[in-house]
Amino acid sequence: MTQGSFATHEVFNQSPPFEDVDLFAVDQPLMAAVAANGGGQAAKELSDFGRHWGSAAMAERGRLVNENTPKLRTFDARGNRRDVVEFHPAYHELMANSAHAGLHNSTWNGEGRPAGGASEVIRAAKFYMAAQVETGHLCPITMTRASVAALATEPTLLARAMPVLSTRAYDPEFKPWWTKRGMTLGMGMTEKQGGTDVRANLTHAERDGEAYRITGHKWFMSAPMCDAFLVLAQADQGLTCFFMPRFAPDGSVNAIEFQRLKDKLGNRSNASSEVEFKGAYALRVGEEGKGVRTIIQMVQLTRQDCAIASVGLMRSGLAHALHHTRHRSVFQKHLADQPLMQAVLSDMALHVEASIALVMRLCQSFDRTPQDVQEAAYMRLMTPVVKYWTCKNAPGFLYEAMECLGGNGYVEEGILARHYREAPVNAIWEGSGNVMCLDVLRALSREAEAAAAVLQMLAEATRGLPGAQGTVGFIAKAFRRADGERLARLAVERLALLAAAAALKSVAPRQAELFASTRLASDHGGLFGAIDLAEGEMKALLERALP
Ligand SMILES: Cc1cc2nc3c(=O)[nH]c(=O)nc-3n(C[C@H](O)[C@H](O)[C@H](O)COP(=O)(O)OP(=O)(O)OC[C@H]3O[C@@H](n4cnc5c(N)ncnc54)[C@H](O)[C@@H]3O)c2cc1C
Repeated sequence: MTQGSFATHEVFNQSPPFEDVDLFAVDQPLMAAVAANGGGQAAKELSDFGRHWGSAAMAERGRLVNENTPKLRTFDARGNRRDVVEFHPAYHELMANSAHAGLHNSTWNGEGRPAGGASEVIRAAKFYMAAQVETGHLCPITMTRASVAALATEPTLLARAMPVLSTRAYDPEFKPWWTKRGMTLGMGMTEKQGGTDVRANLTHAERDGEAYRITGHKWFMSAPMCDAFLVLAQADQGLTCFFMPRFAPDGSVNAIEFQRLKDKLGNRSNASSEVEFKGAYALRVGEEGKGVRTIIQMVQLTRQDCAIASVGLMRSGLAHALHHTRHRSVFQKHLADQPLMQAVLSDMALHVEASIALVMRLCQSFDRTPQDVQEAAYMRLMTPVVKYWTCKNAPGFLYEAMECLGGNGYVEEGILARHYREAPVNAIWEGSGNVMCLDVLRALSREAEAAAAVLQMLAEATRGLPGAQGTVGFIAKAFRRADGERLARLAVERLALLAAAAALKSVAPRQAELFASTRLASDHGGLFGAIDLAEGEMKALLERALP
């Protein structure tokens, strides 16, 4: 097919853009996972969302915000401090679109309690689709949603904030949060001398009447134009969580000074700052000395979103790879019809199908936690497992997806180069890989009975699947070993595979068989496509992944 004409040659055999698609309707594994986890009634709403976010206009916004990155304006022309970050207009449009869809708050009711129903699953499906288009702006979106869980420890503050936090308006104006139509929240934990080990924080808080004054720094504080931040600092009784607004109650700009923005591998549309607090006004959230316990409520939710976004990135890589290889011919045959390419793509499709089933199962446990202790145990144990497995897999997966597009995949004009650079951050922030494994060990030792019940539930759910029994035995034994920490990555990975097989079984039993037979029963090669699937099975997987 002729696509264009130059003086020297015709352009042909290039794939058309993968745009103006309904990201929900073309994703059967997503539709099935949403329905199996209680979100089926939202199919129309999700399809509307998928069509909008799958449009060429939204893809263009994604490109623009990553090419026109945020700028820190530290001072004005007369040398006064400004401490504002300027974004491309497309960034504000993306933020407005996400806020309008409730990505920053739809799992809460107006009082800041869980919205109930399948609100987690439905929001996750939207978050997953949005991540396929532009991931950087989702940082303040996810932090805003998650902050409510920590603010819940301070009911008076929560009651004041919810009327602004619960609107679907995006208000980028730099003014006090209580005067705004909508607000966003960020988080400041990491300091130069320690990120994982937040107990090493040196930033300190001094009482000032009902409030506190915070002095110190944060080495990473993303989305600096948020209206307030949840910040950790040392108070008299130890590490404590604080609510630090951009404006003090008298309307003056709070003593928060941004030093510079990070120059990052990916995540370029999102600003990440280094910041100094010079006696900044803040309110305590939770008890003094209980900072980690308070902020972990928030971090649990940001970890969930890291997993959702990572699977969204992989899905986008798969969809682009499938789309391209169906249009591109090599040796007179479409790439998608070449047996070796089919092995690669079908293996990738199986991986994404299992990943989305697992993520949606995790989100269902968030939905059910308030009424069901077993689901609460699943959520507690599996959040770090799912974050570990999905986030660590994404960079390698995207590299493979990129290669399916050949040289075009490596070029910045395509979305896959951006996805590839974006992917590692989800594994690093909100608790890096090893930290997730240690967190699983912590859950197993502190809540041993509940964790054992989850393992038992997974054993029952995977009964009869190839390799499941052996995997259950291996996990149980590995976690009992005195030197369990050394084995933690292996055990957590096996647990993720088992849980993915279980989740997939309730969505798509045949795919669960394939997943178990290639991941639990036999050794899968180290790379995608190093797998032995029948031709009919491969075709069915590919058709299901993208019609
Ligand atoms: C783009 C970006 C944005 C960010 N935004 C924010 C933000 O908004 N707010 C914020 O507070 N932070 C933010 N961070 C910081 C991020 O959360 C930290 O970088 C992360 O938690 C790791 O901390 P660290 O960099 O101090 O690494 P370290 O704590 O030094 O860890 C280094 C490595 O050691 C591993 N490790 C740690 N402890 C152990 C152990 N006991 N055993 C084995 N291995 C271990 C970790 O898994 C990690 O891989 C951001 C980071 C990035 C890259």
